[in-house]
Amino acid sequence: MSGMPVPGAGAGEPVAEWAGDEPLVFELSGDLRGGPREVEPGVPVEALERLLPGVGLRTTPAPIPAVPEPVLARHLGRLARRNHNLHQGIYPLGSCTMKYNPAVDEQLAGLTGFADLHPDQDIDDVQGALQLMWELERLLCEITGMARISLQPAAGAHGEWTGLRMIQAYHAARGDTARTRVLIPDSAHGTNPASAALAGLEVVTVRSNSDGTVDVADLGGRLDRSVAAIMMTNPNTLGVFEKDIMEIARIAHEAGSLLYYDGANLNALVGLARPGDMGFDVVHLNLHKTFSTPHGGGGPGSGPVGVAPALTDFLPVPTVERTGDRFLLNHDRPRSIGKVRAHYGNFGMLVRAYAYIRSYGSTISQVAQDAVLNARYLQARLAPLFPMAVPSDSMHEFVATTRGCRVPELRAIDVAKRLLDYGVYAPTAYFPTTVPEALMFEPTETESKRSLDLLADTCAAIVAEAERDLEHVRSAPHLTPVSRVDEVEAARRPVLRWKPAE
Ligand SMILES: *Cc1c(COP(=O)(O)O)cnc(C)c1O
Repeated sequence: MSGMPVPGAGAGEPVAEWAGDEPLVFELSGDLRGGPREVEPGVPVEALERLLPGVGLRTTPAPIPAVPEPVLARHLGRLARRNHNLHQGIYPLGSCTMKYNPAVDEQLAGLTGFADLHPDQDIDDVQGALQLMWELERLLCEITGMARISLQPAAGAHGEWTGLRMIQAYHAARGDTARTRVLIPDSAHGTNPASAALAGLEVVTVRSNSDGTVDVADLGGRLDRSVAAIMMTNPNTLGVFEKDIMEIARIAHEAGSLLYYDGANLNALVGLARPGDMGFDVVHLNLHKTFSTPHGGGGPGSGPVGVAPALTDFLPVPTVERTGDRFLLNHDRPRSIGKVRAHYGNFGMLVRAYAYIRSYGSTISQVAQDAVLNARYLQARLAPLFPMAVPSDSMHEFVATTRGCRVPELRAIDVAKRLLDYGVYAPTAYFPTTVPEALMFEPTETESKRSLDLLADTCAAIVAEAERDLEHVRSAPHLTPVSRVDEVEAARRPVLRWKPAE
C-alpha cells in the first residue's frame, strides 16, 4: 500500500508521496499477442469490403497486451487508486451534483431480471421492467409537476435537445413558424446554448443582475414573436434562487414563448418546490445528479424530459402505457418528435432512480434541505477566506473567487491544484465565466460536518501557505501522479492513444 495517498490525513498535512511512474499495461506485457482468440467474422470478407470500401479492414493483428490475470488485476487496481473518487474523499464540484449514492441502488440495478434484460425480449417477459418505468414516470411527474415524462434521453444535454425539439413541434403545430430564438441567461450551463444551436435555434443571451438573478427588464425587452423558449435553471448556476420566476413565466407566456427548466439543480429543491408550479412547460432531470446514478467518466447517464399537458403529444416514442394490469410500449403517436434513443433508454439508471426515490418516499425533501444546509455551512466557513461572487444566500451551491482574498496573486487554479495534494478533489474553477477567478462549490447532502470542516480547513491552510510561499502553491500539485499540466496543450492536443514503437 505504500505510495498511496492518505486522503483526509488532516488539514495542513499533504498526502504521502506517490511511488513514481507506473508502467503501462503494454510495457508489462512480454509480447503483444495476448488478445482474445481470433474468431471468424461470420460475414464473408468480400461483403465487408463492399460495405466498407477501402477502409476499416485490419491487415495485421491488433497489438493486444498479453499479461496473466493477477498482473492485469493489480494494474487496474493501481490505476483505480490513482483516480479520486467518492469512496476516497469529498468531490465538491459545482454545477454537477457529485454525491455518494447508496450501494443498495447498485445491488437492485444488478438483479438478474433487470441487468440481463434483452431490449428485444417479448413484451410478456418484460412486464416488471415496464411497470418500473411506468411507476418511475409517475413519481417524477409528481416531483416535477409535469403531465408526462419520457425516460429516453441519455443525459442532461440530450434531454435539453429533446425538450427543445418538442417546443419547436408545439409552435409548428400551431402554425407559429417564426419562433426561431431561445433566450438564455449569461450564467447558464454551456450545454443550454449548445443544445439550442444543435436544434437549429438562435441563442440570445440575457443579462444577470448584481444579485446573480435574471434581469427581468432585460428579459422582457427581448421577448417578442421570434422567441420559442426561455431556458433557465432554478436555483441558477450561481446557486441563487430565481425569486422572480412566477413573473418571468407570466411575461414569457403572454409573449407566446414557452419556459424550459434545466433540472440539473433539482438537488436543491426536490420534494420542496416543483418546476411545474413555477410555470415551466418543459423540464429535464439529470438522474445522474439528483437521483442516485453514478456520475462521471462519461458513463451512462439519464436525462428524462417532462412536459406540461399542451405538449404531451410531441413526446418521443415509445411511451410506456398501462391498460388494466398490463404494460406496453406505444409507438403509435402520430405527432411525436420520433425516437431519440435506442430501446428503453439507459434502463439501469432508471432502476437506480426508482430505488432511490422509493427508499426516501415522502421524506425526499430531506435531500434538498441537507444539500442547502451543507452549502450554506461551507459558504459561511469559506467567507472569511474568499469573497463570494454575489451577496445573495446560496441554495445547494455557491461561487467564491480568489479575487480580493488575502494574497492578491493567488488564482483559482492554484487553490484547485493545491487541494489535490491534500487528497481533496478541486471544486469547479473558472465557471460560471461571468465571475473572474471563480471557485464553485457544491458539497451535496451526503457530506458530513467533518468532511466540510476538512475542506474548509484545507482551504485555510492553502491561503496561509500562499502567504508564506506563493510559488509552492502556484506550482502545485506536487504529490499527484501528474503535476501541473499545460492546460491549453492538454485540451488542444491530447494524447489519448498508445502507439506501438515502429
Ligand atoms: C450537468 C448540467 C447539464 C448537462 O447535463 P449532462 O448530463 O452532463 O449532459 C446542464 N445544465 C446544468 C446546470 C448542469 O449542471
